[in-house]
Parts: sequence; structure tokens; C-alpha cells
Amino acid sequence: MCGITGYIGGREAYPIIINGLKRLEYRGYDSAGVMVFDGKEINLSKTKGKVSDLEKITENKNKEGGIGIGHTRWATHGVPNDENSHPHISNSGELVIVHNGIIENYATIKKELISRGYEFKSDTDTEVLINLIEEVKKNEDCKLGKAVQLALKNVVGAYAIAVFDKTNPDELIVARLGSPIAIGVGENNKEFFVASDASPFIEYSKNVIYLEDGELAIIKRNKGIKVRKINTDKEVDTKIQKLELSLDQIEKGGYDHFMIKEIHEQPKAIIDTYRGRILGNEGIIRMSGIDDNISHFTNANRIIIIACGTSWHAGLVGEYLLEELTRIPVEVEYASEFRYRNPIIKPNDVVIAISQSGETADTLAAIKLAKEKGAFVYGICNVVGSSIARETHAGSYTHAGPEIGVASTKAFTTQITVLSLIALKLAEAKNTMAKDDINKYLELMKQIPEQVENLLKIDSEVKEIADVYKNAKNCLFLGRGFNFPVALEGALKLKEISYIHAEGYPAAEMKHGPIALIDENMPVIVIATKRGHYEKVVSNIQEIKARSAKVIAIVTEGDTTIKEIADHIIEIPDTDEIFTPLLTTIPLQLLSYHIAVLLGKNVDQPRNLAKSVTVE
Ligand code: GLU
Repeated sequence: MCGITGYIGGREAYPIIINGLKRLEYRGYDSAGVMVFDGKEINLSKTKGKVSDLEKITENKNKEGGIGIGHTRWATHGVPNDENSHPHISNSGELVIVHNGIIENYATIKKELISRGYEFKSDTDTEVLINLIEEVKKNEDCKLGKAVQLALKNVVGAYAIAVFDKTNPDELIVARLGSPIAIGVGENNKEFFVASDASPFIEYSKNVIYLEDGELAIIKRNKGIKVRKINTDKEVDTKIQKLELSLDQIEKGGYDHFMIKEIHEQPKAIIDTYRGRILGNEGIIRMSGIDDNISHFTNANRIIIIACGTSWHAGLVGEYLLEELTRIPVEVEYASEFRYRNPIIKPNDVVIAISQSGETADTLAAIKLAKEKGAFVYGICNVVGSSIARETHAGSYTHAGPEIGVASTKAFTTQITVLSLIALKLAEAKNTMAKDDINKYLELMKQIPEQVENLLKIDSEVKEIADVYKNAKNCLFLGRGFNFPVALEGALKLKEISYIHAEGYPAAEMKHGPIALIDENMPVIVIATKRGHYEKVVSNIQEIKARSAKVIAIVTEGDTTIKEIADHIIEIPDTDEIFTPLLTTIPLQLLSYHIAVLLGKNVDQPRNLAKSVTVE
């Protein structure tokens, strides 16, 4: 994963790079490093730890210079330590690189380079790449751009790189394959910003070029950018896009953590996601990606949803929604499994790929495979202009706004919102529902943001429950029907930010194994809303209580039955069953958040994780 950033122009590079790294830290935070060139010397600092640790070690160092590159790492090759941190420098001391991705054939290249006398200080694949570039540059006696291009032709894997050459210090070379790169273009082509996403430079430039896979850019101070195809050397006509991101969208705005800010942003995010798509009060949904390709959907024999992590859970809710409302059979697959198992794709299959960042490596690879096999591929992602948005035939954005907290919250609810709209739209197109009923659902959907807003007021109640159970070692989350995926998502949230072992199960499956784990120390969170197999879930709660476990039940407001048996209840407003995931998920997000905060965990940057999983 990793975040990379760079600057070339008339300002001091160091503060721009450091601030950029702070914004990219969600992508990886094992270690951080920066290189600036002051016109004479390369000044390179790197350390295990966060960007704030990097700032400490650079306090008394020379940080001057109008060109530099920086990195925040999520280790793939070599433990997080000072040596393995980026930037990496070549054996001659002239070339410097930052890299996001994996060089899969690094071991073979490393062996070859060692036989040619190269020495390595780190265990990374990245140090191999910079020395390969050096070797090519020496042998071909060429400029850095050419050497990078030739070296990359020998590389298998994924990369977004920025490379600097001390002997030609007025240019940066960047290239990508599989990992994202954005280039901010300053006024009159006088300065340029490089970053894994556009957040590091939004206050400097709204003009951005997103490199495509297989492209390499030569960026020259005061001159401009030339982009070429790595394989064919063909020059590419670059498109400058206008950024719509604003600074306050990526700042905490008074909240302690991005995660809680993003939980509270959900009412607005859900509105933003359906705004402009629901027309009037006549049950009309406009989604151009679907409208323009409606026959693919109406003729679909099957829909396959591919995703990872939280998006996969949203995909499962999508399965319930689409099958219930459209009667099209749906399968939900982990992208990482799909891509490697020779999946059967028939001509009339439609693939829906879901990813918040739009850069998830496994999902991207699965999309490419599905396309090769002839499927029509529809994308659902949040980041505008991301790889998945470009790689799919058509798609819908979620409009959640930037999600910085590593634990996904508003991405999940907005993905479900998009999937609900798609299901209703297809129900109309396939005539599986009456227009009036569709309209009734849309009216209910419009109530959801306010219901979420009211639900968020239970924050302190949930915090008290969190305090009671914060020291639990294990936790079980149960739900049925539309709320089974919510149980999975609730367990995932708790695991990823509080490091408490948690499992999500369909409530009835409890009897087939997990019940053996239940004792008086095990909190069980049960989603037991009125409309979702209510009686069955009540029986499940009885079974749990008979084993002395503690039950926290998420119930529909006004419920009196479960109040009698559960240890704690959290009430959610009433809605149709199909929309309950948008509500039941809120208390589970709050519960995980408060437990993690009470345990003193780093909520926004949990250990070993990263936001945008751009490596497989
Ligand atoms: N493979 C590089 C390393 O381990 C970069 C990792 C990444 O992009 O996540 O340092």
C-alpha cells in the first residue's frame, strides 16, 4: 500500500512533502522517510514509525531544497525498520526512489545484481528496483527516464514510483502499474506535485493528471510533463482533470478521530449518494451507468459481486437486495479468490465490483479477468477517477466524501445505498415490482438519513456498554437475513480497531459450532429487528442466555419482548427490513469505536492495516 509524495518547483519541498505524508498516512504507517536535494547534496532521513517520528529526526537536519520525495510505508518485503524504510538510494548514491507496490521477481533480479557487485542494505524489493535502474542507466548510458522505462520492462509486479537522479536534479520520473499516482500541475507548469492520491496538494493545485497503468511521466522543473507508454514508448496525450476535493473534507473538523467524524457524516453521505438519482415522487431512479447499459442488466442470467473486506460485506447485503427485489441470481465472491480460481463466466453474466478506494489490487485484477472472459463489469467506488472507475465498463460513485479512518464506516452505508438504488431500478426495469411499491421504498430511503442522525444520539449509551465489555477477549455478532452481513461487518470493525477476537455468524448457525465458545464471559451482540425473522432470533437469544452469556441486542424501537431477556438493548428506528442494515450498522460502529478508544488503541491507524489495499 504505502503513500508516496514528491515535489519539484520553486518552493521548499520539505514542508509540502511532510504535510502530504501526513495526509497519506492512512495508506500505511510502518515507517516514513523523506529525501530533499539542496542543489549539492541529497539529504535523506527515514525511520521506523510515523511521520511525526520522521519530523523529530529531521529537526536539526538540513531540509532545504526545491525538489524531494517522501514515503509512508506498509511493509510487504522486510520488517518495518529504519533500513527497510523508503526512500532507497542506489549503490552509487545518485539515484533515489520511493515505491508503492511489490516487485514480484525481485529475488531473481537481486541475485543477478549481487553477481555484478551490487550490495544491499535492506530486505526490500524496492532497493532492488533502484539498483536495477542504476545498472540499466550505466549499461545503456542513457538518461534516468529511459533507464526507468527499460528497467520496468523487466519487472513483474505492481508499482507506483517516483525517482530522483542527483546528476540531473531538475526532474522527477514517476511511473505506475497497478498502484495509483496523481500529479498536481502548478500554475504555468512551474511546479509539480506527485502523490498516491490528490489530498497532499489540494491547497496548491486543483489541476491533476492521473497516470494510467503502464505509463511513465518525466516531470521537469519550469518546463512540463511528458507522459509515455512504458512498453511502446508512445507519447500519451495527457488529460488534466479538475479536483473537487476541499481541504476541510480531509481534516478532522473538531472530532477526536477521523472514524467518529466519518460515522457522524453518514446522514449527509447517504443523502449525497442518492441525491440527484431519485427523481420526484414517482418512483423514478436515474443512474446513468445503469440507464446506458440497461440491457446488460435486464438480460443478466446472474450477477457476480466481487469485493474485499467491508465492501464484500456490502456486497452480501447487495445479494439479499438484488435477489429479493429483482429475482436475478446473485453470487458474492472475494476478489482474491475469484481472480485465481478460473471462475466460470457466461456471456450474460454481469459483474459488480465494489471498492471504497477504487484501487484495491485484488478487485482490480478480478475486474480485468472478468472483462477478459467477456463479462460486463460495473464498478461501485468512492474515489472519483480511481483505477476501478476507469477500468470498469460503467459504474456509480458512492459520494461518501474522503474516508480517511482505516476502519470503513460511511463507505459501507453508502455502498449499500447505491446497491439499494440499483436493486430498485432493476426491479422497475424487470417489472418485478409495482411502481407504487418502488416509490414506497424510495420514500423510506429518504427517511434513512434523519433516522441515522437520531440514532447517532445514542453515542453515550453505547459508550457505557463499551465500558462494560472493553476487556472481553472474544465477541460474537449474530444476525439473520439482511442483517447477517451486518453481523460480519460488526465483528470486522471490532477486530480491526480494538484487536478483540470477534466472529460474525448467521444467528441460527450459532448452534453448529460457535455456541461451544459461549460462557458468562462472552458478550454476544444480536441484531434482532422486528421485521427480520424476529421470533427465530428471539429463540436464538434465549439459547444464548441459557448458556449465561451477556446479550447486547439491537432491536426496533418499542420492542418489549427482548428487553426482558437481553442484558442491554439498543433501539433503532423502524424501517422496512431491506433498509435495516443502514441503521443496525450504526450502533455496531459506535461500539467498536468506543471500545478501541477506551482501550487506548490507535483508532484511525490500527496496527498492520492500511486503508487502500493496493497490494495483493
Ligand atoms: N514493497 C515495498 C516495501 O515493502 C513497498 C510496499 C507497499 O507499497 O506497500 O517496502
